[in-house]
Amino acid sequence: MKTDTETPGLVIPDNEDERVRFEGLTDEDLAQCVHCGLCLNACPTYRETGLEMESPRGRIYLAKAAKEERIPINDTFLKHIFLCLDCRACETACPSGVQYGKIIEAARGEAIRVRPGGLTARFVRWLVFKQVFPFPGRLRALAALLRFYQLAGLQALVRRSGVLRLFGQFGQAEALLPKLSRTFYAAPNTEVAPARGRTKHRVGFVTGCVMPYFFGDTNRATVSVLQRNGCEVVIPKQQRCCGALGVHAGARQTAQDLARRNIDAFEPYDLDVIISNAAGCGTALKEYGDLLENDPAYAERARAFAARVKDISEYLTEIEIDTKFGAIEKRVTYQDACHLAHGQRVRDQPRALLQAIPGLEFVEMKNSDHCCGSAGIYNIVQADMSQRVVAPKVVNIEATAADYVAVGNPGCMLQMDSALAAAGVATRSIHTMELLEQAYQAAEEEAKG
Ligand code: SF4
Ligand code: SF4
Repeated sequence: MKTDTETPGLVIPDNEDERVRFEGLTDEDLAQCVHCGLCLNACPTYRETGLEMESPRGRIYLAKAAKEERIPINDTFLKHIFLCLDCRACETACPSGVQYGKIIEAARGEAIRVRPGGLTARFVRWLVFKQVFPFPGRLRALAALLRFYQLAGLQALVRRSGVLRLFGQFGQAEALLPKLSRTFYAAPNTEVAPARGRTKHRVGFVTGCVMPYFFGDTNRATVSVLQRNGCEVVIPKQQRCCGALGVHAGARQTAQDLARRNIDAFEPYDLDVIISNAAGCGTALKEYGDLLENDPAYAERARAFAARVKDISEYLTEIEIDTKFGAIEKRVTYQDACHLAHGQRVRDQPRALLQAIPGLEFVEMKNSDHCCGSAGIYNIVQADMSQRVVAPKVVNIEATAADYVAVGNPGCMLQMDSALAAAGVATRSIHTMELLEQAYQAAEEEAKG
């Protein structure tokens, strides 16, 4: 173990091997599956392959057999467990209440513990989960480098040259790179953005680890919408990455340390709620109670923290908001991010907010709650399946003839924009909060005459 100098107190585990077997998973969790198969057709990888082992039921069977040491954790096990998108569509479909996310995340943790992989895999995991994502300063430096790469015209040059084809997964990651915000989102020095008008609520805001650099406008819009609706927004500087990417990839100890850090950061403030504007982060934050259930010092605090987390769209439909929106004359459809629809069961709230905007023509998309294939870094590490999963999404978006596809998760925005552009479809993604902020600004313009 070592302590990071940039973030005193943040302990970075050297080795995931220190964990117990299938941490966080009980025999009762696995026994909840009655093998009925009602989840099969909800599963993107089963729909694509038709294979039982690429279905939720098949993967639960594998996890149970491995936990009971009836099968080895070998390449075949890893292949099936890591081809899952962790989209949780199977949780929505399951009548028995199986907590599939808990099962797959524990199985991945175990897979990494037993089979940490070769030197390259270990190095990439070490670099991403232990050296970059936990540290805002390093992320900011990386984002600044990437912004220079774009603004200096190097990106255009590199893409035209075709050299990216030689770099495998790094080349694929580059293709997903969005245009970085010219000005990164920065929390105010005071850590508190005051309410506009009378203060009615005091909320915490989780900025996300990459959102300030890649989606600065989304964060600015989110904070502004909250301020417009009487919220004093507390943005603790000590907050860190939520740990979702680590949980999904099996790097559980890193995620647990980040969770502890975030609890420490938000706890001193007397907050009504803690707001997330990214579906994947929101789900991870709402599950801190499970993640730290075996930590006597943090278990209770983690449950209290998790109980206060809300997605921004969920929160705005619970409080009385200002509905004096200006008109937005656009056709808009909506993509249910998996971790909002399946992970948090938030479906109606974003639609209600969008439909309250005058002039906005809302059109539903076929299979709006089918995964887009983004799934954290899945679109980089499982690029083939990701492309197969996003293909019908592009067709369904195109059929709506929408100007925008609104969504509440940044990873989905990258994935859909990249696929839409490649297919020559003009629709572009936008975060629901950006549309809402535009509607408020339109109202201000209309008032000026
Ligand atoms: S996960 Fe649920 S729906 Fe799927 S087979 Fe098991 S019990 Fe049935
Ligand atoms: S999480 Fe998604 S991809 Fe994984 S088994 Fe469930 S439905 Fe299939």
